[in-house]
Parts: sequence; structure tokens; C-alpha cells
Amino acid sequence: MTEIINQNNDFFNLKKRIVVKIGTQVLIDDDGKLSSASFRKITEFVDALRFKKKEVILVSSGAIAAGRNVLNIETSAKFLTIPQKQALASCGQSLLMKTYSSHFKKYNIKTAQILLTKDDISSRKRFTNARNTIYELLKNNVVPIINENDTISTEEIKFSDNDYLSALTANLACADLLIILSNVNGVYDKNPYLDNSANQIKIIDNIKNFIDDFKDTSKSIHGTGGMKSKLESAYIASEAGIDTIIASGKDKKVLKSLSDGKITGTFILSSCEEISKKKHWLIFGMEKNGLLVCDQGAIEAITINNKSLLASGIIDVKGNFKKHNGIYIANEQNKIVAAGISNFDAEEIKKIKGLKSSEIQVMLNSIHTNGIGIAVHKNNMVLL
Ligand code: GLU
Repeated sequence: MTEIINQNNDFFNLKKRIVVKIGTQVLIDDDGKLSSASFRKITEFVDALRFKKKEVILVSSGAIAAGRNVLNIETSAKFLTIPQKQALASCGQSLLMKTYSSHFKKYNIKTAQILLTKDDISSRKRFTNARNTIYELLKNNVVPIINENDTISTEEIKFSDNDYLSALTANLACADLLIILSNVNGVYDKNPYLDNSANQIKIIDNIKNFIDDFKDTSKSIHGTGGMKSKLESAYIASEAGIDTIIASGKDKKVLKSLSDGKITGTFILSSCEEISKKKHWLIFGMEKNGLLVCDQGAIEAITINNKSLLASGIIDVKGNFKKHNGIYIANEQNKIVAAGISNFDAEEIKKIKGLKSSEIQVMLNSIHTNGIGIAVHKNNMVLL
């Protein structure tokens, strides 16, 4: 299958916008500090992709590791406290960007820094703002370099890792391809570091089934993600109709093949049932802060008849969410059937649940009837 794709240049020609995720391991030496040789390889790779008329967006880790070039914190990566990581990241992020821009200068490539938190992705407004900024940067021939805003991301509001951030970015930027570069050249059937009979898996055509059977065999020391998180991110990208390649960012030959349009590492085919960008965001990007338990009639209305969720069908409200927050919708057996954006605060829904629109109109003393009892509009809802 990879041969078929490789022989068919159309495959690569069709990929116009590419998100390249660069793991910390790709950028550092054995002593855990930034490696100039690695930056040379990566910037050469990006230049080669741009030469082929690709728009490139980088999602780069490495801020925490770069901070070690600045601060004298000797604690090993595994035992760093959150404040230590945040201090290292805030010193390291500017060094990371400086290193990228000085290497890209050789190719006359301008760069821009974008730091995101999970909240930024969860808010539709900020998500759209980030998208518009990225579009404008690409229009101006700039390479956006995205990282998590580690300094203000505490454990509860963090992305699980930059693999996940790269998949959400691929959807945000409407990319055609996600390339995850790591220190391993793709996915193997066994841990290639521990077992030299391990075989590289060249293609995964059903990522969901593959993940169910996959036993995680690797965990990087300096970054946060292992192979499982890369596969889960490939799944998220796949649901948005985006193919993923997982390959080595350390090996010059691999990078050359990739920029020549030949697939190396592991190729993960996107799902043929691509969902819309907005639905993708509703499922994977938007944070859910509550749950609406609904009666059978309401569940049938939203799942079979493609209707909005009315307050009259809500029987219980869980969580302390605000108007415009994300929520789940469950049936009477507490099985989640949908997710969406609530038109009301949790406290407001508690007051109007079970009421007909006309009763709500009287209660709110409103002259408007149109849409008054809609708790979640069908355009802001996705079935799960
Ligand atoms: N944001 C972190 C950094 O720049 C990396 C997180 C990750 O690798 O997943 O160091």
C-alpha cells in the first residue's frame, strides 16, 4: 500500500498544508540541551517542503529542555516539579524561538510564535482567532511555530502533551497532513530499543482498532508523550480527515525522503467518514463542564429527528457550567449520546427543565417565543 501511495505522486501533491510536530527528543543532545545539528536538519526539511510549495506549520516542544541551557536546575526531567517546569519553559521558550529563527534565517524564512492553552482551543472565539492568525501568517509566507503556553498551563488545564496539541492544530489550521517527528522512526510491533526483532509497521488503515490492540512500549524521557499518545493524536487527526505520518526527526535520510514525497516511518490513513471541522472541535477541542440528562423523547428528537435539545426534555442537570460552555447530553441510563454548547447556565436550566417553551416564556416574562426553550441548538451539537 505504501508503494502504491509512493508511486502515486498525486498523494503528496495533494497535501498543501502540513503540520509538523517536533518532539523534544528530536531537538536535544544526549546531555538534554538544544542541539544545533538537529535544528539544521529540521530547518532544512521545512525549507525543502516549502520549496515543494507546501505551507508548513510547526508544533514544537523543547521549551523545558531549552530552559536547561539557561537555568541551573539539575533535577532529572521525570522529577521536575510544575513550578520548575514552568520556570524552565519560560526561560527556554524564548531561546527555542531564537534558535529556530537564527537557523531559518539562512533560508530567508520568517517565523512567528504562537503559545496556546487548552482554554484557547476550548473557546470557539479564541480558536477562530488563532485560526485567522495562522491563515494570515501563512499568507505572508511566515512559518508559525506553536507550543503550549506552559507558564500558565497548570495540570488541570493542560493539553495532555504536544502530540495532542498538534492534532488539534491540524484541525484548527485545516491541514491536509500531520507529520509527527520523534526519535523513533514510526510505530513498531515491539519496542525497537529492547527487541531487535521489532518490525516497523508501514501503514495503519484502521487507527481505532489499532489503538485498541496496541501495548505502549515507549515513553520519551524529556518530552511527555509516548507512542500511544502519538497514535491517539493520529486518531484525532484521522477523524478530521487528516492523514498522519510518524517518523524519525533525527535521521537526515528519513527527512529527505519525506520532503521528496516518499512515505517513510508509519503512515496512518485518515478515516473515510470525515466529520466537519466544527463537529471535530465540539468533540475533541471543546472542554465539557457538565451533563444534561434527558428523557427518551428528547433523545429521540436529537438522535433520530436531528432536532435541537429543548429544556422540556431535560430531567437532570449535573456540573456547574456557564452559558456557552460545553456539556454532554445523556439518556436516562446516563449513557452519553451527544455533546454541545449550552445556551444557559446550569442554574438557569435547573429552573426551566421540564417546562414547555410557552411556560418558559411566561416565567421569563419574555415577548419572544422563537427559540426560547432551546437548551442546545442542533448546529452546536454533535452525536457521539
Ligand atoms: N511544551 C513542552 C515544552 O515545550 C513540551 C510538551 C510535550 O513535549 O508534550 O517543553
